Amino acid sequence: MYQGSCVNLLEQPLEQVRQWLDSFDTIISDCDGVIWLGDNVIEGVAETMRQLKRLGKQIYLCTNNSTRTRQQLYEKAHNMGFDISADRIISSSYATAAYLKARNFQRKVYVIGTAGITDELKAVGIKHTEVGPDVMSGRLTAYIQSGLRRETDIGAVVVGFDVHFSFCKMIKASVYLSDPKCLFIATNTDERFPITGMVIPDAGSIVRTVQTCTAREPIVIGKPNRSICEWLIKNGSIKPARTLMIGDCCGSDIVLGHNCGFKTLLVGTGVNQLSDVHIWQKSSDPEHKKLIPDVYLPRLADLLALI
Ligand SMILES: [Mg+2]
Repeated sequence: MYQGSCVNLLEQPLEQVRQWLDSFDTIISDCDGVIWLGDNVIEGVAETMRQLKRLGKQIYLCTNNSTRTRQQLYEKAHNMGFDISADRIISSSYATAAYLKARNFQRKVYVIGTAGITDELKAVGIKHTEVGPDVMSGRLTAYIQSGLRRETDIGAVVVGFDVHFSFCKMIKASVYLSDPKCLFIATNTDERFPITGMVIPDAGSIVRTVQTCTAREPIVIGKPNRSICEWLIKNGSIKPARTLMIGDCCGSDIVLGHNCGFKTLLVGTGVNQLSDVHIWQKSSDPEHKKLIPDVYLPRLADLLALI
């Protein structure tokens, strides 16, 4: 229903909106730009989610942000009035740990990132290096001759958002990833992160740097890749054909929906607007078709009047 047509639900007959609502049992919602903006909840969304839950929908929250654990995201959502359990939160750091665990990874992970990643690795019993500053105090030659305090059992390099990213970390990633058996995993590839009044480098910029200095391509866990929710599909928790993905960013959220066979809803409270979709609808590039959602709402809270 409405597949890839980007119809505005507010302009649809109520009867059809009800049919659309009946076509899914599970909702996976992005966080930033859909339910909250930074530390502020978007008005009316918590109430809308409660009503959807009352209608019997299973609700998951899904974010590419690797700096928080599931527990921390749960606390943030809970404090904003969302009635959701921690196991219904999908984050790129949790999914990274789940990815390694599912492959029975037994070695140690070199982490470029934050405690959001290492806490999730620890929770599933995977060994890892510690996060934080790693800076060169003397000359490069002395640093290299000192043996770089090189770990011997590294089997994967995981890269996410890291405010302490440094030349030393680039050297270590280069050394470890020169072994073709060492996995190179990116939590996500969002390149830029908007904060109040400016845009700062996001994890994807760090991933690109590591790609450049190692000449390796990463396995990307975050949206729009299926890996972020593949364990839920594999264990039968969600049925793709009966799942709705809600997002504000077409390149990550809507393409994830396309890649997993989910229905898709774009909301206009974040990155992309209807005007962007109109440009892709006129394009002949097949990649642009994946960006077009099934349905659109200016705000997720607009759904409340329709349900
Ligand atoms: Mg978003």
